[in-house]
Amino acid sequence: MSYSIAIDGPAGAGKSTIAKLIAKKKGYIYVDTGAMYRAMALFFTESGISAAEQDKISAAAQDADVTISYENGEQIVWLNGRNVNGLIRTEAVGNMASESSKNKDVRQKLVELQRALAGKENVVMDGRDIGTCVLPDANVKVYLTADSHVRALRRYKELQAKGQPCDLETIEKDIVDRDYQDMHRDISPLRQAQDAVLLDSSDMTIEEVAQAIIGLCDGAQEA
Ligand code: C5P
Repeated sequence: MSYSIAIDGPAGAGKSTIAKLIAKKKGYIYVDTGAMYRAMALFFTESGISAAEQDKISAAAQDADVTISYENGEQIVWLNGRNVNGLIRTEAVGNMASESSKNKDVRQKLVELQRALAGKENVVMDGRDIGTCVLPDANVKVYLTADSHVRALRRYKELQAKGQPCDLETIEKDIVDRDYQDMHRDISPLRQAQDAVLLDSSDMTIEEVAQAIIGLCDGAQEA
């Protein structure tokens, strides 16, 4: 049996940074499920489909082949054989991902892929529905959150460091809107699993959060 750590939470809570760090420390693979939803969203946008066209999204989902591979521990997302890592990190793709991830055909396809990965490898998987739906039997479940202003500020600093023009208020509004949408959709809405440990990282460093989760793993049964 492989070992799995599920990390869910709202946008910008630091899930991927933390998950990547823990995966490195434990020698597990890191699975960023948001990147898969983003790759699907990119496919729909490039196909000229809008967020409102759910029937077209269902049909087009069958033509989007999303796979992942690893290069130096970094997850590469492939969309129909094309490396799309450099194209999926924009706010526009994130917002489309939040819309298209409501679709049951999109979710079904990606959940299957995620479960298959976790079935054969020890994983740290982050997303919105990992503890509640994808891996209900995960060895460790964490719900990682932080104050929306803190999350916006972190993202603002990240974008500034990359030299991308941005506005703090717009970022916070986008985050709050996306969380609302993710928490109120019909299928697999974002919520804390009953058996997940709540961690609020507003006043914690990355290392402190990682250590807290590793502490939980030490307390849970090893593979
Ligand atoms: O985590 P990230 O911001 O990259 O995710 C983009 C969007 O993909 C989320 O806002 C959410 O709508 C969707 N998502 C999801 N289920 C997951 C991961 C992401 O619905 N497991």
